[in-house]
Amino acid sequence: MSPKIKNYLMRDKPKEHCAVFGVTCDDIGFSISQLLYRGLIALQHRGQESTGISILKAGGKITTYKRKGLVSKVLNDKVLSHFWGNVGIGHNRYATTGSEEFTSSNYIQPYHFKNNEIEFSFAFNGTIPNYDEIKEKMEDMGRIFLTDTDTEVIAQLLASISLGTESWPEILKVAAKFLDGSYSLIILTSKGDIYAIRDPLGFKPLCIGVKRIELRNFCFIASESCAFDAVGAKLVRDVKPGEIIHLSHQKDTHSELQLPSDKTALCQFEFVYFARPDSIIDGISVAEARLRMGENLARRDPLLLIPEFKNNAIVVPVPDSGRSAAVGYANEARLPYVEGLMKNRYVWRTFIMPGQKKRKSAVNEKLNPIRSLIDGKDVILIDDSIVRGTTTKQIISLIKQAGAKSVNVRISCPPVINACYMGIDFPTCDELIAGRYLKQYGNTDYIDKIKEIIGADSLLYQTISDLEKAIGLKSDLCKACLNGSYPLKSVGKITELEQSIKASRFLKSSNRS
Ligand code: SF4
Repeated sequence: MSPKIKNYLMRDKPKEHCAVFGVTCDDIGFSISQLLYRGLIALQHRGQESTGISILKAGGKITTYKRKGLVSKVLNDKVLSHFWGNVGIGHNRYATTGSEEFTSSNYIQPYHFKNNEIEFSFAFNGTIPNYDEIKEKMEDMGRIFLTDTDTEVIAQLLASISLGTESWPEILKVAAKFLDGSYSLIILTSKGDIYAIRDPLGFKPLCIGVKRIELRNFCFIASESCAFDAVGAKLVRDVKPGEIIHLSHQKDTHSELQLPSDKTALCQFEFVYFARPDSIIDGISVAEARLRMGENLARRDPLLLIPEFKNNAIVVPVPDSGRSAAVGYANEARLPYVEGLMKNRYVWRTFIMPGQKKRKSAVNEKLNPIRSLIDGKDVILIDDSIVRGTTTKQIISLIKQAGAKSVNVRISCPPVINACYMGIDFPTCDELIAGRYLKQYGNTDYIDKIKEIIGADSLLYQTISDLEKAIGLKSDLCKACLNGSYPLKSVGKITELEQSIKASRFLKSSNRS
């Protein structure tokens, strides 16, 4: 979805947009629909708004089923029993807003395209900031669009390129020249093949898995490797940035093409927050990276040098996002790790609540401090990130009401000072507490100002270089939200993008009132 038309609701965590999952089996008598279900369930954390599948039925017909809702609701036994085929893809989507406009079926994937010349279905995780430029060019060439979605732009682009060649690797190679964005895209063709491409900068993760059981060979492609564990498959490797992969229902998986890729920009937030801790991305265990983030924070923490503080301190994670880093911090500091905040798992999506009042009461409903563990203690509170700061402020207040002597906030991500235009649902720079205060108070004072506003007794962020060390990737990460260095060509005009986001929000709120 274009960032220009997003209607951001008030939320205090960045949101990943989507998950993709694909399966092939070399036995045409076997249905992979249950495997699709299990893979998509494992990837539910990347998108909860809607889900869908496309399966190649016998006779080469692609059938697609997609609805709003969680995987377990949409893909029930009745639906799965109707979808019988040995090749298929699936998608979980996170919509950036609750408005009808963005949750209509036009926006739900997989996107099934069919005209006189070609039929395919595809699903993708990412965003194409220059999609309206591509659309304009194709409209000039006579293409007619039915929706204002980037998915339709990709579909029409692939279809128009296919007029010149039937080779899917070639089609994807040409398409990649137009798509200046972050994307991991998988395509189901009417011949029963799956092709996948990871953008040349490798913003979004994408990996390959295999399994062999009772003489059947299965190949998988997924946003995260935790999906392979869910289907009993083994992670083979990550798709390289710019690589085009072919999963054949007859043969094994193989690489078709490697597009030139002189630098990489995997999103650092995958390691900080988005990905499941049991996933391995580009060879790095997400859980271990988060432990190291916590260890680094403890090594730099000046309060740990004060014996009176240390003797009374406990390490408390914000559930669930702060847990792994809190374990790393507690181990390094040799302090007790205490689950001092009880999370009510049945309060759904508290961070996506419009309006300050509603969000405040939602935090109260979702988190409850355990007084007997916290009372009189110096609490070291660990979380992954501070975005707007409103939720952190509320949590600190709850812990203080439960009798904590002090609340000292430790954040495993460095200050988030810039918006994201690469497919992550983020506030604008002015809405980010660190972005706003950096502008207002300058580099030396802004952290103190944040500490004051959120009501913390002390505040320590991870440094960018410690974050890089904790992740431990040899290739480069995208850190644009931390340092303002945007890797895409089309996000050069940041002011223009910020203004269009604000304008679209203003329009939405005017329409509501
Ligand atoms: S700007 Fe931040 S959230 Fe967006 S892709 Fe880059 S690292 Fe990820």
